[in-house]
Amino acid sequence: MSARRRRLPSPAPSRPATPDGAPRPPTSAQDRRERHSPRDAVRAFVSLGSNLGDRRSYLNDAVQGLPDVVAVSKLYETDPVGGPPGQGAYLNCVVELRTKLTPRELLAVAQTLESAAARARVERWGPRTLDVDILLVGDEKVDDPDLTIPHPRMWERGFVLVPLADLAPELVVGFLDSDIGRGVRRVGRLDGPQAQP
Ligand code: ADP
Ligand code: MG
Repeated sequence: MSARRRRLPSPAPSRPATPDGAPRPPTSAQDRRERHSPRDAVRAFVSLGSNLGDRRSYLNDAVQGLPDVVAVSKLYETDPVGGPPGQGAYLNCVVELRTKLTPRELLAVAQTLESAAARARVERWGPRTLDVDILLVGDEKVDDPDLTIPHPRMWERGFVLVPLADLAPELVVGFLDSDIGRGVRRVGRLDGPQAQP
């Protein structure tokens, strides 16, 4: 490519409206603009779970790999609900971030961490070395086929609400009751400076 063309990149083509005037899904150009537009840091929560292999070490590695961590809940163990029979118990915690990352950037981080833990997507809701779910990102709402924020199933999961209550009890009021919290057993905490005492 010539120096002249590098200095004068062609403008992005304008995007015609959809026939019914509905908003178009974001393009990668739009994604890029959103990424670079200034954002305030918001409070975000991520749920971590593992029921295969060295569960504690998978969770520890995930906390180390998350950006902008400010606090980690206590650790909880829960028998698996649904999914194929014969799975081991889950170890879960929730991590609080103070971050400028977008929900989609956080999903990318989550998927990188799951891949690093060699998570095999063999069967839905089957055993996994690491499950990373983005629960809340400030008060943002996303409703895309591959990303829903707030996480759509978080309000009915004791293994999410009990650790979330360690960090943000005000958020679970009206959702966490003794029925939902039943079977979620406290089993200590992860090591590290942000872990709950
Ligand atoms: P679950 O976490 O409900 O047990 P999975 O981890 O198997 O189920 O689901 C993974 C898929 O869920 C991913 O491919 C991801 O695109 C999608 N997904 C939608 N919303 C979220 C979210 N808030 N956090 C993480 N994954 C999400
Ligand atoms: Mg998940």
